[in-house]
Amino acid sequence: MKQLFKILQNDLRGVLLAVFLGTLTVVSSVGLFATSAYLISKAALKPWAYTLTLTIVGVRFFGLSRAVFRYLERYFSHKTTFNFLAEIRKFFYEKVEPKAPAIFQKARSTDLLSRMVADVESLQNFFLRAVYPYLVILWVLILAGIFLWRFSFWFSLLLFSGFIIATIFLPAFLGKKRLEFTQKLRTERAFLADGIGELILGYIDLKTNNSLEEKVLGVQKLSQKLIALRKMAANLTAFSESTVFFLSHFSGFLALLLAVYLSSQGKLSGVLIALVVLVVQTSFEAVLPAAAARQYWEESKESARRIFSILNEPPQVIEGAGRTDLPGDFSLEFKKVTLIYPGNVEPSLKEVSFFLKEGQKIAVVGPSGSGKSSILKLLLRFYDYKGEIFLGGEELKTFSPEAVRTLFGVVSQESFIFNSTLEENLRIAKPEAQEEELLAVLEKVRLSHLKLSFEVGERGERLSGGERQRLLIARLLLKNAPIWLLDEPTTGLDSITEKEILDNIWEVAGDKTLVYITHRLRGLEKMDEILVMDRGEIKEKLSFVEFKKRYLNHDGV
Ligand code: ADP
Ligand code: MG
Repeated sequence: MKQLFKILQNDLRGVLLAVFLGTLTVVSSVGLFATSAYLISKAALKPWAYTLTLTIVGVRFFGLSRAVFRYLERYFSHKTTFNFLAEIRKFFYEKVEPKAPAIFQKARSTDLLSRMVADVESLQNFFLRAVYPYLVILWVLILAGIFLWRFSFWFSLLLFSGFIIATIFLPAFLGKKRLEFTQKLRTERAFLADGIGELILGYIDLKTNNSLEEKVLGVQKLSQKLIALRKMAANLTAFSESTVFFLSHFSGFLALLLAVYLSSQGKLSGVLIALVVLVVQTSFEAVLPAAAARQYWEESKESARRIFSILNEPPQVIEGAGRTDLPGDFSLEFKKVTLIYPGNVEPSLKEVSFFLKEGQKIAVVGPSGSGKSSILKLLLRFYDYKGEIFLGGEELKTFSPEAVRTLFGVVSQESFIFNSTLEENLRIAKPEAQEEELLAVLEKVRLSHLKLSFEVGERGERLSGGERQRLLIARLLLKNAPIWLLDEPTTGLDSITEKEILDNIWEVAGDKTLVYITHRLRGLEKMDEILVMDRGEIKEKLSFVEFKKRYLNHDGV
């Protein structure tokens, strides 16, 4: 919250202007009703027409100024809101960008990111609907209170109590209930989104297993539940708004009783009765948004809490810092490298050491969860580590992570194929590539049967599994980085296609330094060394011949 106010302060002038205009709008409204009431009361006494001139001018003035101020107030308060939102977005982006690698490593990262974006979006209500109404209310209360005090202290007190009830007691009373609703709504909405997502993504499986209808029914039930909750929440809003309306009129009624009493006591002139009553009642115009303000306040607080709790975490790896002059030699060495993922207790890599000369090729094998991919994540500087990693003989941490990443060509399980043409998907690796170069690369990875303009579909669904991997290898070739990191580049492929792809890789890899991560034990003939990992440790370092003797005695499986 503090941080939100700080950001809001950047546009203090806008805030003050908006509040000033908002107050003037309400004052004009009150003025319009007050002068009208006075005019009518006075006119009923049939005075000389000229004595009414000033009041008539007043009515005209307030009638016009109310519209003008309302317009200006809308304009400036929204402008301030958008400035605020722009500031928040900038702030958010600057903070989130260096954390992107770590965020993307987390489970459900897109979900996380989209939730954060939604949270930022919902902060547009913070100024306009949560802070601003209270500031206007405060000013209206002060001005109207002082004005009414001239007639009687009791009117001010009446106004004050009405305001307090409407802005503090009522929202506090309803706020808790509402918070319950919003939390429930949020979880139900997430359930529904998940359900629909599963329905779409799992459509084929559901259909073939004849369980589609069951799933659809489930989703419909969720949807009905959500609708029911929405209705209840809407009822609550309607109730609180009508209560404020009631308060406004009830205060007017009390003011009327009081005015009549005072007038009968000779303490208030009769022509002023209508004026005072309407001042009390129309002042409540400012209070109406308060019914919702509290809710927006709570929501903004929640959103801000979620956003800042992520943003204020120190970044795992500081981007941008470090040298950008990369070494000329691309050997890799791990020396007693230990990695404990943030939030974990057990290390995922335990004192891992190995050395890889420039141009050498090693395989890292081991069961799933043994820490193979973690080696890759460390090289790409997504996480910090204990121990030392040397790149060309120099500590990896001394280089800028961004610069280091230019040295690696990566194909992993998470490599992404965009819903676009083959050409666009290739150009990600080398935007300035000539068409001939693209075609030559396609030839090399045996994709030349496809046109550059071929639309590959969402996540490359219009390509076969083998073709997808070939596309990723083509990217690798285009990027032409000196070190290749392949993390299970053939997952999901049948063994014949797998062999074809691997042969193709070894064919095009040439003298690249290469780390090949796999949980399968075949296709390692071309490797200079094979590291066998288990539970975060390197158990053995073997040449292929030794490896074959030890692990492949059942006919290569
Ligand atoms: P492999 O690639 O051999 O299957 P990983 O290197 O992906 O194994 O994972 C090694 C261990 O580290 C696993 O126990 C896994 O649960 C844990 N791990 C991997 N990534 C993360 C992460 N981002 N946060 C926390 N734990 C992780
Ligand atoms: Mg892995």
